[in-house]
Amino acid sequence: MTTETGTIVNIDLKKIREDFPILKKQVNGKPLIYFDNGATAQKPKAVIEAITKYYSEQNSNIHRGVHTLSREITVEYEHAREKIQKHINARYVHEIIFTKGTTDGINLVAHCFGKLYIQEGDEILLTEMEHHSNIIPWQLLCEEKKAKLKVIPINDKGELILDELDQLISSKTKLIALTHISNTLGTINPVKAIVAKAHRKNIPVLVDGAQAIPHTKVDVRDLDCDFYVFSGHKVFGPTGVGILYGKEKWLNAFPPYQGGGGIIKTVTFEKTEYAESPLKFEAGTPHIEGGIGLAVALDYINEIGLEHIHIYETELLQYATNQLTAIPGLRIIGTAKEKASVISFIVEGIHPFDMGLILDKLGIAVRTGHHCTQPLMQHFGIPGTIRASFAFYNTKEEIDVFTEGIKKAISMLR
Ligand code: PLP
Repeated sequence: MTTETGTIVNIDLKKIREDFPILKKQVNGKPLIYFDNGATAQKPKAVIEAITKYYSEQNSNIHRGVHTLSREITVEYEHAREKIQKHINARYVHEIIFTKGTTDGINLVAHCFGKLYIQEGDEILLTEMEHHSNIIPWQLLCEEKKAKLKVIPINDKGELILDELDQLISSKTKLIALTHISNTLGTINPVKAIVAKAHRKNIPVLVDGAQAIPHTKVDVRDLDCDFYVFSGHKVFGPTGVGILYGKEKWLNAFPPYQGGGGIIKTVTFEKTEYAESPLKFEAGTPHIEGGIGLAVALDYINEIGLEHIHIYETELLQYATNQLTAIPGLRIIGTAKEKASVISFIVEGIHPFDMGLILDKLGIAVRTGHHCTQPLMQHFGIPGTIRASFAFYNTKEEIDVFTEGIKKAISMLR
């Protein structure tokens, strides 16, 4: 298709929408309009089929069996790891750890990094726009070690105030953990510049990529971050699986996160010798079909091309922003210059929850509430927002229906 700016993008909407069976669904008698992609994205047939194939033809445990099924699925699972390594351009395959998701990856780093490097009085630097998943693990660590959390503030557009960074970093700062893209505001943070600044002071950086991975090309070597975490389910893959990328030097130094089968070289009652990364961090039977399904999801988006996805989603964002700003009493929360296809808004005199219920009656799925970013809500002095988050299978026609739905809800609720 050709965009309004004349750019040709490889988005064949008809075909793409055919690939996602759920998009044919009716909700409350209306065609489903799914604008809750920030919470979880829908799955293409290729991913659903890979999972079905695993259970109907391949089911067996990995890394342990000599029999054919086990050997074959081990190869496929490790091949999935390699695809993920290539997708984010990690240097080594052993820098790719399968986790349960973003939350699990952050907890792993907080636990292992904290155990080795955090002492009383040390500081960990976050930002005001973090998801609770990138706050609470650090808070728990700080409570345990008597360390301190510090926070990079944001301006009223929802951009980080980086002028304050120099002041916030001290000789006690041991780690910076920040989101690549805000799930609530859509702000794209200048992660590469922040990493460069942190590294000049020998401070490692963890990047929460939960919202970035479905929208942008992520190159961990270019970003030079120390850790990058994301979830499968937000990038059109299965739930219950995710990735922690960690630089080799950290993963070699870290102790295991959890004890269990699969992480060892030898075990006696006196002492256990551990395997190298990634197995050292993958105790127990993993989410085998999840890892395989995640690699299939990445293949799927790569076939469309992340640059095409970016152009198309930017156009959707622009279109929706124009439509929504024309509605009297509606205020968009998060107007950063660099933004992904996420729009949070409030409407004067209307509770987000009530708006969400009416939109649901019209078949429109949006997220309402604090989006697991309560400190951000405190910054804006609001209890919550209505959030529409778009994916490449969404359309301008859906945005038109959404806009009319908001207007209808306003007339009903006022
Ligand atoms: N970080 C961000 C920015 C998110 O948007 C989310 C989920 O919404 C998470 C972390 C947590 O992801 P998960 O629940 O998949 O672990």
